[in-house]
Amino acid sequence: MLDRTSNAPELPPEIARRRTFAIISHPDAGKTTLTEKFLLYGGAIQMAGQVRAKGEARRTRSDYMQMEKDRGISVSASAMSFDFEDYRFNLVDTPGHSDFSEDTYRTLTAVDAAIMVIDGAKGVESQTRKLFEVCRLRDLPILTFCNKMDRESRDTFEIIDEIQENLAIDVTPASWPIGMGRDFLGCYDMLNRRLELMDRADRNRVAESIKLDGLDDPRLADHVPPRQLEQLREEVEMASELMPQFDHQAFLDGTLTPIWFGSAINSFGVKELMDGIGHFGPQPQPTSAEPRQISPDETKVSGFVFKVQANMDPKHRDRVAFVRMSSGHFRRGMKLTHVRSKKPMAISNPVLFLASDRELAEEAWAGDIIGIPNHGQLRIGDTLTEGEAIRVTGIPSFAPELLQNCRAGDPMKAKHLDKALTQFAEEGAAKVFKPMLGAGFIVGVVGQLQFDVLGSRIEGEYGLPVRFEPSQFTSARWVSGERQAVDAFVNANKGHIAHDSDGDIVYLTRLQWDIDRIERDHPDVRLTATKEMM
Ligand code: GDP
Repeated sequence: MLDRTSNAPELPPEIARRRTFAIISHPDAGKTTLTEKFLLYGGAIQMAGQVRAKGEARRTRSDYMQMEKDRGISVSASAMSFDFEDYRFNLVDTPGHSDFSEDTYRTLTAVDAAIMVIDGAKGVESQTRKLFEVCRLRDLPILTFCNKMDRESRDTFEIIDEIQENLAIDVTPASWPIGMGRDFLGCYDMLNRRLELMDRADRNRVAESIKLDGLDDPRLADHVPPRQLEQLREEVEMASELMPQFDHQAFLDGTLTPIWFGSAINSFGVKELMDGIGHFGPQPQPTSAEPRQISPDETKVSGFVFKVQANMDPKHRDRVAFVRMSSGHFRRGMKLTHVRSKKPMAISNPVLFLASDRELAEEAWAGDIIGIPNHGQLRIGDTLTEGEAIRVTGIPSFAPELLQNCRAGDPMKAKHLDKALTQFAEEGAAKVFKPMLGAGFIVGVVGQLQFDVLGSRIEGEYGLPVRFEPSQFTSARWVSGERQAVDAFVNANKGHIAHDSDGDIVYLTRLQWDIDRIERDHPDVRLTATKEMM
């Protein structure tokens, strides 16, 4: 496990000021709106609404993006960098739909913290819970934003209780809401003893902030009506007695989350949340790797691929590998070693994803996310270093839960299908298995929706209509063990054996019983539902 201590070795200032995080939420809680406001305060856009407008212009370019729009879900993740006060924020977008959980999981390997957005009226929803569990597997520090306080919401104590009970994490209020719905005035900032007042007239204006000497400050009465003021004092007193105090180490350990209340659409509470990320961090963390962990302050540059996106520009069949920098100060044109192939790679056109545009990245520091255009050399899980044979670990591949046969609509084009499927497999969009016996491919995904996305992308990007048909198999397991034992097992089960796109051996079946039997009869062969990407 990584050690995220607040007194970690002092990092060079350029690295120490970086904050790399993701936002997790249930669809509709307000992730997009919050992202827009972040960019607005980060000075990256002039007016909120541009993210969406830009997104729309881009989406019309390809069918699958069109599908994403039709279904109102966000399928592809991207990264955005912007400055806020003294900090450089790197926000990595996570796909919101549960069918893309594997992609999300890998995205979360590239960040140091997560913001959990919940809807004040709905509380902890299913997708929030799932994503939270993924963060917990990595002990990620979590900041919570309770959104839509301008609407009728649940009682503040109830919301906090629900998070504590449901997610088994301690919650400490960073702010306390004053009223709700139509009566929502703003918040009392519990960490900085300030009164923050929401401006209903101008949605993009930062709230008026009044410095106070605690809750007995007479200035409060100038802004908060007596009944609401009395309630605020009572509630804050009760909260201070009942709830844990903010504890930086507990936050860094992922066992305590500070919660801010606000309204993203009214720009309210957003700046306080950004201050929270800035002040509490965490700064770029070590990366787990073999044979040793990588520390961000190492002078040698290293990074790893956590996502590959193909055909971002349909005119060029290029792919962009999203790389999280683990250490050092990268400069454009550097030669890095691609550890898997042991080959040098000149990184001459790396891109940085600024909110308004893609730009050439002249430099990048540990914590940053850069995109490296390539022709397929870079795969998920790959490590880049200045020569050392070090391999980043903990980026898993999960066994798919749904399997279907995939056939080219036009049999003459079967060869192209091979190419298209290989590409999507390398992108991590699906698992592709080539059965040992017989022709065709078996495609595996986590959720049904992925088949639709895949079908329309193959048609849109390769001009190749495809059919998905039920497969006789429902489960896939990776096979490992001593060479001889594996060979014997493969020979005895040819009808069930396939190879994945990395050439690894997979056992396909429709019966859990089969898997149990093999575990019993072939103790020297291991069947696993996850595989480490390398
Ligand atoms: P996402 O699916 O999580 O990205 O959610 P969006 O940011 O698209 O927001 C979902 C809906 O909630 C949109 O109609 C937003 O305008 C609305 N919304 C977002 N924040 C607020 C808020 O603070 N108050 C209210 N009343 N609506 C909001």
